[in-house]
Amino acid sequence: MFRATLLTLFPEMFPGPLGFSLAGDALKRELWALEARDLRLHGLGRHRAVDDTPAGGGPGMVMRADVLGHALDAVPDDGRARLLMSPRGRPLVQRQVREWAAGPGLVVLCPRFEGVDERIVEARGLIEVSIGDYVLSGGEVAALAVLDACVRLIPGVMGRIESGTSESFEDGGLEYPQYTKPREWEGRTIPEALLCGDHARIARWRREEGERITRERRPDLVEKSAGGFPRSVNALDESSLTAKDEL
Ligand code: SAH
Repeated sequence: MFRATLLTLFPEMFPGPLGFSLAGDALKRELWALEARDLRLHGLGRHRAVDDTPAGGGPGMVMRADVLGHALDAVPDDGRARLLMSPRGRPLVQRQVREWAAGPGLVVLCPRFEGVDERIVEARGLIEVSIGDYVLSGGEVAALAVLDACVRLIPGVMGRIESGTSESFEDGGLEYPQYTKPREWEGRTIPEALLCGDHARIARWRREEGERITRERRPDLVEKSAGGFPRSVNALDESSLTAKDEL
């Protein structure tokens, strides 16, 4: 079973949004497990300090390596990857999410303040992960994003298998536009191709629209999937996924 252990100063932030909908139902059904541990329990002295001033001076506080070391060492080493949420980390991509989702789970360190003493990263082999090129106030929201992305891929969490395999990034590109009822809304109609009932034509329309949107919005994805978009939106075989879900 996928097990998530969070190390945070704010354990009450979890499961938070992961306690609802798909992830929340799956948590209740014990398809995955979540445990949030309070870093403060490993704090030093009367005030249970977890941070101190930066060596070399400057603003803010840095989380202490000794405190974080104790907190990490209190989590049994069962082969789970240990992540450190960090804007300097490797950008999170769907291929990586898929790999973690298929494994035993994650231990996620969620810093606050200016971040952590650099020595903890190497000493404990932490994988630094970023959820984008912007700065959050703490690692908790980033950890929620990582776990949400993983949990929805756990077998049994999502209803129809297709919903996990024919969407943005899974084929190297972005998803085609979606429509539902009513057929006409504020004078706007649904593209004719989607109403024709011809499955081949619908598949072609979706593929072409997905490609157009990817080219317009994310030319970087087109370049990375060198060779274009060979996968049809109907092809759900694993080989095309592993080859093309790389961002
Ligand atoms: N001084 C740091 C930013 C600290 S923000 C710097 O300039 O790089 C405080 C914490 O929020 C970070 O330690 C990290 O855990 C989290 N965080 C902020 N932005 C993030 C992002 N884009 N991805 C992942 N974690 C992030």
